[in-house]
Amino acid sequence: MSYDFEKIYINGQWVDSDSGEFIEVENPATLEHFARVPDGNANDIDRAAQAAHAALAAWSAVPLQERIVLMKKMLKLFESYQDQIVELEVKELGSPVEFATESHCLYQYTRTRSYIEAAESLVLEKSLPLSQVYREPIGVVGCITPWNYPLGQVVQKVIPAILMGNTVILKPSQHTPLTCYLLVDAFDKAGFPAGVINLVTGRGSKVGDAIASHPLVNMVSFTGSTRVGIQLSQRALESLKHISLELGGKSPFIWLPMKDYAPAVSKLFSSIFLNSGQTCTAFSRLLVPEQDLEKVKATLLAHVGEYTVGDPTDSRNKLGPLSSKAQFEKVASYIRLGLEEGATLLSGEIPTDCSKGYYVKPTIFTNVKNSMRIAREEIFGPVLCVITYKDVEEAIAIANDTPYGLNAAVYGPKDEAMAVARRIQAGNVYINDAPRDVLAPFGGYKQSGIGREGGVAGLLEFTQLKAIFNHSSY
Ligand code: NAD
Repeated sequence: MSYDFEKIYINGQWVDSDSGEFIEVENPATLEHFARVPDGNANDIDRAAQAAHAALAAWSAVPLQERIVLMKKMLKLFESYQDQIVELEVKELGSPVEFATESHCLYQYTRTRSYIEAAESLVLEKSLPLSQVYREPIGVVGCITPWNYPLGQVVQKVIPAILMGNTVILKPSQHTPLTCYLLVDAFDKAGFPAGVINLVTGRGSKVGDAIASHPLVNMVSFTGSTRVGIQLSQRALESLKHISLELGGKSPFIWLPMKDYAPAVSKLFSSIFLNSGQTCTAFSRLLVPEQDLEKVKATLLAHVGEYTVGDPTDSRNKLGPLSSKAQFEKVASYIRLGLEEGATLLSGEIPTDCSKGYYVKPTIFTNVKNSMRIAREEIFGPVLCVITYKDVEEAIAIANDTPYGLNAAVYGPKDEAMAVARRIQAGNVYINDAPRDVLAPFGGYKQSGIGREGGVAGLLEFTQLKAIFNHSSY
């Protein structure tokens, strides 16, 4: 049987949730409720945990090369769903078609492929003088993911966890759960044994909490807000589960003194404005030389008009709506707060009307002090704070003066930019227009998280070490 949005997937079957209740999925561009998924409960998680636990011994004993063969089969099926994935991401998230295609869909195939390739040459055994050391699966992994990259955050967990011999219970965000059904369907059709992957939809307070506290769950891999990450970790530590956390950010972009700032704009705007600013790694703080503020303002104004907002099905638009009414209200309240704190709107406005979709224009604040709440808290919308610095030492100090440490960028002469990058407290730093490396470790310093995703580090995250002392005389 193929997937059905009104079912959950447990032990290789699409089945009813025990709750008999549903959550409506809203299109944030039209406000239409166009699908519904089960509002799962703790009994569903118990069934999923039993299935995942029962499947574990056999799955972890399957040689890695055989798991890779199955994963390649899954990827082929997953790729055949491209059109449906794009259509669903436009509808459930409000993502413009081009961004949905490139980022929410094709890049997820690239990521999946990169994990498979990294696994192909992965060494999971090492000899020490008096012992043999093995990397083994952790067990049943609960994967809890947010709404902003509905497939991206799932792929970062489910693919490496399963490749490494773990079994999985997936709980996607209740706001954007639909594309996960296609991924799970691809696993089903590829012939993965029952119980290796299980999908339970529902709310964090019920389903998420049940995962974090279930005795058969050995690890929780969470992506979401820092607030929930801390709460969930406390719960998971009651039974000493492994924890991996990908959390929020307030990432700085330092523009070193330059004659012309125009070349740096596209890296900045595509990060803070695309996906309507709902990106954990978005460069939300722009740090610029005080003496060049007027030149920077002119450069930003010259390009901000290219980031048009509107109907995500119209390919001329670069930004769709925000993902929900709650998100719209949160971003509007931060723009109001910015004005109250004394910042100046260079571009954008306080959005008021959301009766025709949750649209917010690209917003740029100047006169921002790094101590203001708009510069310290994650807004998670298309809102940029421009902050000035007197010299590079001050730029580095401002960049690091944040509770977060997920991402950063430096634009300027390459050697100088590299020297600055080394001093920024963040898990990732971009130099100039450098692209992302899918094989590089991704994750945060400070309150942006614990653990890493991506490449070999992302695979090893789902393993634990065993040493066998084998130099016996018998
Ligand atoms: P959120 O923390 O509200 O929810 C994330 C997930 O946790 C959802 O599935 C939710 O249902 C679940 N959840 C909520 N309360 C729970 C609880 N008490 N116990 C267990 N699970 C619970 O985050 P969100 O609003 O969905 O996503 C936005 C946040 O995610 C932002 O802070 C963003 O920075 C962060 N994020 C981080 C990364 C990263 O890789 N570092 C990537 C994407 C998003």
